[in-house]
Amino acid sequence: MPKPRTEPARAAHASIEPERTSVTVAEARDLILNSVDPLGSETVGIQAAQGRVLREELLSTEEIPPHDNSAMDGFALRAEDVTSVPTELHVVEELPAGKRSQQKIGPGEAARIMTGAAIPEGVDSVVMVEYAEASGDRVVIQQPVTRGQHIRPAGADVRPGTRIAEVGDLLRTPHVGMMAAIGRTTVRVCSLPRVAILATGDELVEPDRLVSDGRIASSNSYTLQAAVREIGMEAIYLGISPDEPEEIENRFRQALRCDAVISTGGVSVGDRDWIKQVLAGLGGQMRLWRVNMKPGAPLAFVMLDETPVFGLPGNPVSTLVAFEQFVRPSLLKMAGRREIYRPVESAILTETYTKPAGRLHFVRVTLERDASELRATPTREQGSNLLLSMVHADGFAIVPGELTEVVAGTRVPVQRICSPELRSEPGF
Ligand code: AMP
Ligand code: MG
Repeated sequence: MPKPRTEPARAAHASIEPERTSVTVAEARDLILNSVDPLGSETVGIQAAQGRVLREELLSTEEIPPHDNSAMDGFALRAEDVTSVPTELHVVEELPAGKRSQQKIGPGEAARIMTGAAIPEGVDSVVMVEYAEASGDRVVIQQPVTRGQHIRPAGADVRPGTRIAEVGDLLRTPHVGMMAAIGRTTVRVCSLPRVAILATGDELVEPDRLVSDGRIASSNSYTLQAAVREIGMEAIYLGISPDEPEEIENRFRQALRCDAVISTGGVSVGDRDWIKQVLAGLGGQMRLWRVNMKPGAPLAFVMLDETPVFGLPGNPVSTLVAFEQFVRPSLLKMAGRREIYRPVESAILTETYTKPAGRLHFVRVTLERDASELRATPTREQGSNLLLSMVHADGFAIVPGELTEVVAGTRVPVQRICSPELRSEPGF
């Protein structure tokens, strides 16, 4: 028996902004970004630290390297013993890396030493094994010696108090190694948002349930999970809700255990578009806009307590464009990141693009570097339901609302959505 359809509470409508409010991309972005804040801090093991934002000052507590050590495999000796070459010395000790000398090296003596081994007391220089002829406990030095050669001083890398990174810095691969080098195993970082993803639509099925009965696979569920994971965050998939307000509300209540919630579908003005009423019913100030962009409008946004909820449109390209413009920067801000926007580069449009005046267009383009110029070519079909246009796109050419035509050869800003940019050639 299908559940009876419930009308959402009328009172809730009072907190919905006028449905047809039309805002620019910049206005919607500002409002959303100003509503979200970085999360609290947590301590993680250094293996989990890469890509996280530091919440403490990272100072070295150690001297690295901890002792003067040899930069070469060879012989440690006193420069003053080699006034001419060849000179023979008495080898009194062998020092592999990790072994500390037990004795002081005296005049006329040398120690066989390996790269990284601590320099023993009494010597001041290292001669490379290539310039020494050893036999038994004797070595003949064949090259003049400059005092101090091939010795790496203690503390050359960091000393106690050296600042490695500051609060707010993004921890990258070398930071992880540096922390290990100074004996740090944990670090204080900004928490990462856990992101709930909910698809809504009677017509949707999971991809493995796709049969020819007129229903379609919920591709958005998977697009959004991938988009969230791409920025290193955990996506919690809450499945597909039918277009039933009670069921949608139940799923949203579950979702609110997460730090951010993304839904797709049901934000338009169709009879079965319940998202705005359900969210308004849950409290908070519901904002629903026709964002003046194509593809992408409409968009619902509400802060429920501290949790941002993004109601994205159902069309697969619209979902992804809206995620890119509003959700991704918000999630990165919540993770404490300072740099939250995709790079925008200048490119030459290779084909004339025409559109009606009014909405800003995100034109899906492929990018090619020709000599030093970046060239942007629109992908064939631009419909907001045509996901293949996103598969082919390297970025979005931004065509402002007021323009009706951009002629071929004009420079346009292009927001890259495939970065970092890797090359097929090594380049040097
Ligand atoms: P809606 O925003 O619910 O009106 O949906 C707009 C269009 O997007 C419709 O053609 C839906 O079938 C489609 N759509 C909605 N949700 C999804 C989804 N999760 N995956 C793929 N297409 C969807
Ligand atoms: Mg729908």
